[in-house]
Amino acid sequence: MDFQYSAEQEAYRAKVRAWLEANQPGKLEAPDADSMGGDDPQWRRLKDWHKRLYKGGWMGLTWPKEYGGQQASFIEQVIFQQELGRLNLPFGCNVLGVIMTGPALMQWGTEAQKARYLEPIISGEEIWCEGMSEPGAGSDLANIQMRAVLDGDNFVVNGQKVWTTVAHRAQFCQLFVRTDPDVPKHKGMSALLVDMKSPGVTVKPLKQISGDAEFNEIFFEDVRVPKENLLGPVNMGWQVLVSTLMHERIGIGETLGGSEQLLRHIVDLARQNHLNGKPAYEDPAVRQQIAQFACEVAAKKYSGMRSLTKRLKGQPPGAEASISKMVSTELSQRMVKYATRLLGEYALLERKSPFAPDGDWLRRILACESMTIAGGTSAVQRNMIGERILGLPKG
Ligand SMILES: Cc1cc2nc3c(=O)[nH]c(=O)nc-3n(C[C@H](O)[C@H](O)[C@H](O)COP(=O)(O)OP(=O)(O)OC[C@H]3O[C@@H](n4cnc5c(N)ncnc54)[C@H](O)[C@@H]3O)c2cc1C
Repeated sequence: MDFQYSAEQEAYRAKVRAWLEANQPGKLEAPDADSMGGDDPQWRRLKDWHKRLYKGGWMGLTWPKEYGGQQASFIEQVIFQQELGRLNLPFGCNVLGVIMTGPALMQWGTEAQKARYLEPIISGEEIWCEGMSEPGAGSDLANIQMRAVLDGDNFVVNGQKVWTTVAHRAQFCQLFVRTDPDVPKHKGMSALLVDMKSPGVTVKPLKQISGDAEFNEIFFEDVRVPKENLLGPVNMGWQVLVSTLMHERIGIGETLGGSEQLLRHIVDLARQNHLNGKPAYEDPAVRQQIAQFACEVAAKKYSGMRSLTKRLKGQPPGAEASISKMVSTELSQRMVKYATRLLGEYALLERKSPFAPDGDWLRRILACESMTIAGGTSAVQRNMIGERILGLPKG
């Protein structure tokens, strides 16, 4: 495993850092900005930031130039994300499109599909959502019931999706449907690229306890999808889905976990707040807990470096994406919850209250439960780690 970055990579980091520092938008601060359920002005600011990143040549860094990317190396992408995280800046407005649909299109799409969809994904012109989960199919996605029946040149789609992030903003959906109900469940699924303005598509936002409404129910009633919008071979949707999820887990673990940044916030809270009449950082129990978090953040970082070294040696992402996803989201969740210990009653104040602490902690605390559910629950990641990495028998 490599611990050091080369002089060339450090020079690249300096270039990224200089650009981000010069171009970062003043008011766009996480976590406010990385919530996709905010009001319209906030969404517009996020879109503007995405476009600025794209114009600066920082979106889809590893994508081929013909699709609007920079053909940069994987390590350059990682350095860029680290620097973005250091400044607390969000990844743009089309996260799912860039980390999931884009790579899936490159792997499974026809040349015509790649030419049509990829560039508007990284430019942020066309927002994509991921239509996987249904009321009876979340952890067990092979149980998807949404039906698509071929009728002439179109698939006719009927059924319901749920928890579909950003569907209320999306122009397109990467949709997983059942095309053959008479074969074992993993074998009769297909993936479709669906225009969200198609007649028969109804999107209903779901409001969360945090006040955000970032995800939705989507109802499909006799929606006609041209058959050229099939992604990958018919009835091979399970393979498309597994590879798409792998990209999501890597994205969540490496891009959105943000545990180093969160640790810095916890240290700041310990400096700014008092416990039992003394600064919180003087309390031995607080110091020990923060030291424990710091050890775990470091362990996560080095474990991430091990899989990074593997990727740089040309090996594909494997089941260790599950380790990265599970460890970074569980650790971040524990750190967010620990903030309540440092903030005391102030943790209960809403962002706009006069005495609310900086950082929108109430929203973060309420929203953090979802971290270990979205993208596959921790229990499901543990099953994958047990079976595919440790070689344990299926439970
Ligand atoms: C913020 C957020 C955003 C999301 N965005 C999207 C999106 O854009 N598109 C999309 O399609 N979905 C999305 N989801 C849905 C998400 O993928 C599912 O919620 C998740 O996979 C769990 O499925 P479920 O909710 O149906 O729970 P269930 O599968 O019903 O699980 C219920 C409980 O049982 C446990 N469990 C289930 N099976 C097993 C097992 N085999 N072994 C051990 N324990 C098990 C789970 O860990 C969980 O605790 C999102 C969810 C969240 C929270």
